[in-house]
Amino acid sequence: RAEGGSEAVQHYHILMMFTKVDKSKALQEKFEIAMRSMVKHARFLDKEILVFHFVSDEGSRELGQKILPEFLQDASFQYEVEFHDVTELTEKLFPIVKAMQLHFSAGSGAYYSDAIFFLSVAMHRIVPEDMKHIVQLDLDLKFRSNIKDLFEEFGQFPPGAVIGIAQEMQPVYRHTFWQYRRENPKTKVGDPPPDGKPGFNSGVMLLDLEAMRQSTLYNRLLEPEQVAKLADQYHFRGHLGDQDFFTMIGMEYPDLFHVLACGWNRQLCTWWMDHGYGDVFELYYQCVGPIHVYHGNCNTPIPDD
Ligand code: UDP
Ligand code: MN
Repeated sequence: RAEGGSEAVQHYHILMMFTKVDKSKALQEKFEIAMRSMVKHARFLDKEILVFHFVSDEGSRELGQKILPEFLQDASFQYEVEFHDVTELTEKLFPIVKAMQLHFSAGSGAYYSDAIFFLSVAMHRIVPEDMKHIVQLDLDLKFRSNIKDLFEEFGQFPPGAVIGIAQEMQPVYRHTFWQYRRENPKTKVGDPPPDGKPGFNSGVMLLDLEAMRQSTLYNRLLEPEQVAKLADQYHFRGHLGDQDFFTMIGMEYPDLFHVLACGWNRQLCTWWMDHGYGDVFELYYQCVGPIHVYHGNCNTPIPDD
C-alpha cells in the first residue's frame, strides 16, 4: 500500500556492548540468559521490528553470528541484527568524550580505548539522525517482562528529560561524594532513596536521541569546561564511565533524567555491603514492586526465578 502511512513498520532499537565475548565463557553464559529471557517475554505487533545493535570486535562478531540464531529461534516477533565495529565507533567518540575521560576513567590518562565506555553519553552524535530512541542494555541481565514495556517509558519522559535510567542500588556514590557530603552535611547527594540522590546505574538506559540532540543544556554539559567545573564543584573522581557522568550531572540537573522504577534494573551486586557500608546498605538495596529485569552486576548470579 503506497499510501499506508499508519501501517508503516516501526523499529525498536536496542544496543549492547559485545566485546571480548569470544574470550570469556562467563560473558557467553550471561549473554545467553539475557537473550533467551528477552526473547521469551517479548511481544510485538506484526509491523514492529526489534533491531539488535551489537558493538563488537571481529572475534565477538563471529561468535555472535554463530550463536544468535539459536537464541532467537523461538522469537515471536520480527527482528534484525546489526554489528558495529568497536574501533570505528571509538574513533568517532574519542574527540567528544576525551576530556570527560580524565574525570570518570580508571588510571590517569585519557586512553583511546576507554572512550567506548562513554558511548551512551554521545550516542546522539554517533548514530544516524533518523534514529529517535535507543535502549542500551548490559549483557548481564535477565528479563521477566516484555521489553516493549520498557520502550513505553519513553512516553513518560517529562519535558526536558533526555535519558531514562534507574538509580544505583549500592552506596557507591555515597562513597564517591564523601568529601562533598562532609562539606555539605545537609545534602541529599549520595543519600539513599526515596528522598536522597543515590546516583544512577547504567545497566539499562533509555536514550531519547532526539531530546539529547535538542537539549541545549545537555550538549553544553558535554563541553570540557562544564565537565571540569562540575567535577571540581562535587570533588568527583570516578572510574565507571558514562554512569559517573550521568550521576554527576544528575546531581546538578535532575530534570534531565527520567528515573526508571528499580524493577527495570534490579541490581544484585552486594560488594559495598562488606566494604564499610553494611549499616546503610539495605536502604540502597531494597526494591519494592515488580521485578522486570534482574541485573547480575559484579558477576552476581541471577536467581532462577
Ligand atoms: N562488556 C563487554 N565485554 C567485556 C566486559 C563488558 O562487552 O569484556 C560489556 C557488556 O555489555 C557488559 C557491560 O560491558 O554487560 C558492562 O560490564 P558489566 O556488566 O560486567 O559491569 P557491571 O554491571 O558488573 O558493573
Ligand atoms: Mn552489568
